[in-house]
Amino acid sequence: MLKADLHMHQEWSPRLDRVLARRHGRRPFDWKTWRRALIAEVPPGLARLQRLSRVFPAPAEADTDEAFVERVADALDESAAAGSCYTEMRFGSDTILRPGFMALFRRAEQRVHARHPGFRAEALAGLLLWHEPDRLDRVLEECRRAASDGLAGVDLLNVPYNTEADWHAGRTVISAAAEAGLGVTVHAGEFSVANIAAVAGMEGVTRVGHATHATDEPWLLDLLAARDITVEVCVTANLVLGAVGGLVDHPLRRMVDAGVKVALGTDNPVQFGTDIAHEYELAERLGLSDKEIAEFTRCGFAAAFTSPQRRAELLRRFDAAPAMV
Ligand SMILES: [Zn+2]
Repeated sequence: MLKADLHMHQEWSPRLDRVLARRHGRRPFDWKTWRRALIAEVPPGLARLQRLSRVFPAPAEADTDEAFVERVADALDESAAAGSCYTEMRFGSDTILRPGFMALFRRAEQRVHARHPGFRAEALAGLLLWHEPDRLDRVLEECRRAASDGLAGVDLLNVPYNTEADWHAGRTVISAAAEAGLGVTVHAGEFSVANIAAVAGMEGVTRVGHATHATDEPWLLDLLAARDITVEVCVTANLVLGAVGGLVDHPLRRMVDAGVKVALGTDNPVQFGTDIAHEYELAERLGLSDKEIAEFTRCGFAAAFTSPQRRAELLRRFDAAPAMV
């Protein structure tokens, strides 16, 4: 079955550690043990999410241009090998400001494309709305400039994450990004219903990351469906971070039944120990039919922040693919 991964973070240090470990013939950081401790010691929800960005097994100095290309290619290669034909990767603001960022990203994409013909990838920039206005402006300006180099979209995060946030600055950022031709997705509703309605109602937003708790309030599902929002569902991330109690509690089936468009994602595949093939398997274990699961791929292609040409090509491949292979 053709697959798409619409929600993957770069995990710069965990990914770089993996690349360096391979280069030097040593073992990479043990994320399995780390996950076990995370689940045993940290309460589910935001506290676990905050731990993700606190482990740096590889130092920033090691992230040279060649190492950067190698680690991005490593992430994309893993994604393509797991069956993805289209993967979007999200980068932090420091990376966006890195000189030659888009050229380096395309070099990595090319390497993977050579090994997996037909595979395509795009880059998104993470925008943290709590950054100082000067810094946020600088990153946004760089995103608008990079749009002409092929930057595909932006991914917004706001605080507070678990209660309703102020979206005043967010609205300005979203319209500026959309005006530059960038796709806009926003992280919301991962651990509570907060911010889902605010985000889904904003002009320019076509996708929401997680929205796991939309099923707590049926009207939120109706809103997402009515606004034609594609929800990026990352099941393993929800399990590891405790956004849901267990696999059987996962709301994926309820989202689909409510007519909400869904695409799948791996979120932080190195840290969570997953790949896109595993995410599709979990959807199957949740009782979704082959047809419903194939629809996740079609939604992923349709909602992709890629060029109209690339999207048309992906949709053509989807239509031409034997139904359930
Ligand atoms: Zn995410």
